[in-house]
Amino acid sequence: MEQAPLIEVRNVTKVYRVGSVDIHALRGVDLIINRGEICCIIGRSGSGKSTLLNVLAGLEHVTSGEIVIAGKRLDKMTQSELIVFRQKHVGFIFQAFNLMPYYTALENVAFPLSFRGMPARKRNALAREALKTMGLETHLKHKPSQMSGGQQQRVGIARALVTNPDIVFADEPTGNLDSNTSDDVMRTICEVMRSRNKTLVMVTHDPNMAMYADKLAVMHQGKLVRFGTPEEIFSHEEELR
Ligand code: ADP
Ligand code: MG
Repeated sequence: MEQAPLIEVRNVTKVYRVGSVDIHALRGVDLIINRGEICCIIGRSGSGKSTLLNVLAGLEHVTSGEIVIAGKRLDKMTQSELIVFRQKHVGFIFQAFNLMPYYTALENVAFPLSFRGMPARKRNALAREALKTMGLETHLKHKPSQMSGGQQQRVGIARALVTNPDIVFADEPTGNLDSNTSDDVMRTICEVMRSRNKTLVMVTHDPNMAMYADKLAVMHQGKLVRFGTPEEIFSHEEELR
């Protein structure tokens, strides 16, 4: 596996202004994630996990500092450049699945391809392939309400993967699933990511999910306080509670 930095975060801060109060969500974060790695961001509620994920994904601008992804400076991009960057390089998996309720699994998964000027037949073929990878070839015509939570999240993962992105970002992707289903879903997504040498950056508060990662980034009060393998991190558990 290639060990080249794909994501580099340099002294990133993020300040939210609410009324007259400044909230320092990120206070100088440095982080490197290599291509092909599965990195989990963990830490207690309010520590800045989602903020970090959102700035890495180009969903929000940083207040200061640099973010370099695949050699490109995200912090220098305009809003429209960020949109293009996300469409080309990034997939998202959401805690609440965020599927379109009136559309079938196939239509939901094909949707991100409709921004690429691709003929419908090609879009449907790729969507079918992605759903098959997630073990859902028998559920192409199902609507979200006709599927279990685990199946809906598999559709969500297929939708994130259908554009063949370099990086997939996920915020608590197993947060709405029971623990057995969470394990199944995590195992599948990690298998797919590893087999394609893709990078997964995922927020979780569940130590069982974090064990699937190559690297853990522990956030605490807006700072990255620890970074290492799960084995290294779980011998120092105090910041996780
Ligand atoms: P976590 O995901 O670890 O629970 P967040 O990154 O969501 O933490 O939040 C970090 C801090 O930033 C919290 O104090 C939160 O209230 C604040 N925050 C997050 N998003 C916003 C926002 N859009 N506006 C104002 N404050 C925010
Ligand atoms: Mg969060």
